[in-house]
Amino acid sequence: MFPEDDLLPLSALTDIVFCERRCALHRIEQIWQENVATTEGHHLHDKVHEPDSESRGNVRIVRGLRLRSLRLGITGIADVVEFHRPEGEPASKPWRPFPVEYKRGVLRHELSFEVQLCAQALCLEEMLNVAVPCGAMFYGLSRRRFDVTFDDTLRARTEQAAQRAHSLVEAGITPPAVYDERCDKCSLKELCLPKETGGGRSVARYLEECLKSGEP
Ligand code: SF4
Repeated sequence: MFPEDDLLPLSALTDIVFCERRCALHRIEQIWQENVATTEGHHLHDKVHEPDSESRGNVRIVRGLRLRSLRLGITGIADVVEFHRPEGEPASKPWRPFPVEYKRGVLRHELSFEVQLCAQALCLEEMLNVAVPCGAMFYGLSRRRFDVTFDDTLRARTEQAAQRAHSLVEAGITPPAVYDERCDKCSLKELCLPKETGGGRSVARYLEECLKSGEP
């Protein structure tokens, strides 16, 4: 079990599945950079992170629910958790949590986002001691969503991501950049300098060397 002070945000899992260096730049080097995508994403999350709740028939909708798993060492805020009353079950039975993660853009499958959603499910299972078999991804631009089943493969990938993120942060070593198609949609590209810092130098070290040499 992880102590409260060592919990990592759910976004660290999204980062580490997308790019280990991105996770290290955020969590070890404390480097942050917004782009249009992240700014729009924050705006969308700000709207759904306001804590409130409502009921619609057999579904209770809770926004801005704080989550954590001491087993995996992660914490965060769920955009939306729907609590579904199983068909034909008495009202006294626990309602089944169904996390919904909001993303900007159009409907698409991205493993890093589905790991983040599955991590929310694992938090809910630990907190509420109920099974959370599936959830959904909602995309703001297309205003559509699809269901995600938390099968053994996705659960294992999520647990592995949590373990890897903790190992990376504990080791405190930023992995080298590998320049590929991910970099073009990464908000950290201008600070990561994937072409210039490839080979394992940290951004801080690269900038220090540039200052010493007088090169841009
Ligand atoms: S720019 Fe590329 S190498 Fe650098 S953090 Fe982003 S995805 Fe990773």
